Amino acid sequence: MSVTKRTSKNVLLDTALKNFYGAAEEMGLEDSLVEILSRPERAICVSLPITMDDGSVRVFEGYRVQHSTALGPAKGGFRYHPDVDLEECEALGSLMTWKCSLAGIPYGGGKGGVACDPLELSMTERERLTRTYAARVAPIVGEWLDVPAPDVNTGAPEMVWFMDTISKLRGRLEPGVVTGKPISIWGSKGRTAATGVGVATCIKELLKSVGADVNGARIIVQGFGNVGTFCAKTMLEAGAVVVGISDVTGGYYCPKGIDVEKAIAHVTNHPKKLLDGYTQDGMEKVSGEDILLVEAEVLAPCALEGAINGKNAGKLNVKYIVEGANGPITPEGDAILDERGITVVPDFLANSGGVIGSYFEWVQNLNGFFWTEEEYNNRLIPIMTDNFYRVWNYANKNEVKMRRAAFLVAIKRVADAVKMRGTFL
Ligand code: NAD
Repeated sequence: MSVTKRTSKNVLLDTALKNFYGAAEEMGLEDSLVEILSRPERAICVSLPITMDDGSVRVFEGYRVQHSTALGPAKGGFRYHPDVDLEECEALGSLMTWKCSLAGIPYGGGKGGVACDPLELSMTERERLTRTYAARVAPIVGEWLDVPAPDVNTGAPEMVWFMDTISKLRGRLEPGVVTGKPISIWGSKGRTAATGVGVATCIKELLKSVGADVNGARIIVQGFGNVGTFCAKTMLEAGAVVVGISDVTGGYYCPKGIDVEKAIAHVTNHPKKLLDGYTQDGMEKVSGEDILLVEAEVLAPCALEGAINGKNAGKLNVKYIVEGANGPITPEGDAILDERGITVVPDFLANSGGVIGSYFEWVQNLNGFFWTEEEYNNRLIPIMTDNFYRVWNYANKNEVKMRRAAFLVAIKRVADAVKMRGTFL
């Protein structure tokens, strides 16, 4: 490869670039495509003057980066966090390009955000910030252009304000300009469960692929929030035995199987939505670290990044790990798992049910016709299954790990689209 490789002082962007150049080299991607795909198509900085509740005016900095629109409108959330900057948005936007490509949906990748501390903002300040951000990025967002979504510290209220502002500016409703809206305002049934159901689909297909029985397979689910609960529930429905669950309050181990419905009811009724105090027959309360070490077929880390690392990867007693969370395994942890022959289904394949769910919301918005939850799942599961086998087959055929296979498959689809579409003039 004779391209001049870009580097960055931003660790996230530098890592994203290194990973991309490494994969591009491995797959023999031609130089012009490497040059094109190592840069975002468009990146904008916006200044956001906001009248605060006390009457003062503060100016915030916002960003929107469209890494690629080769496969379709840019897709990716916008976040509110003090660390948000252009480089971070560029890095995360490129990861969205690969994730959407692998998911097999007609989207490119993008990311945005505003550098702010959301804890310091009142709801009215948050609303003004979101509406000003929407107005400033309005020229580059749209149903067929760039479709943002929730991300760190943004959720349904921000999506509604964003959609409403764009619609008012354009003088017509544009529900599909953003996804992650509440069901009552052009959101979609099924979206809440989509990521966990997708993770469970990967676990089931992985077990089938290695000739193991899903029925009776022992599963540990780390993290009992949105992704973890729906993953555990779906696995239980498939006949698996959820032997361990955990959240910030520690681990809950039951070799005969956690009563997942009962645990979900406990969390729902808990004032802080925690497992704290949960108990059932034959259950033992252990630490959050120890629950990862119990013997099982599959571990599904659905909590935070870095949960499996150089310290604990050598002690795990599972054969397979399916990453529900983003980045739950550190590079050191990954190397150890690799040596130990533990198969890992990577995050951007396993948790892509979320972005596929966003695509479903957009499709329904464009059609003005809503699906039932059953229709939603009937569409989600075959797509997740196809994606799993695309990566599984590539990994086996080319004798590479699934993480590498997923990345190579994803880059190839985008590169093919760029090549077919060609350059402009
Ligand atoms: P959530 O906030 O609903 O749940 C997180 C859970 O993890 C909580 O139960 C929390 O108590 C638990 N947790 C936190 N620290 C822990 C620890 N040290 N040990 C054990 N448990 C711990 O979040 P979520 O939406 O379920 O997201 C979980 C992960 O999945 C994140 O990495 C997120 O980026 C990723 N993800 C989520 C979606 C989605 O649609 N929600 C989509 C793609 C990826």
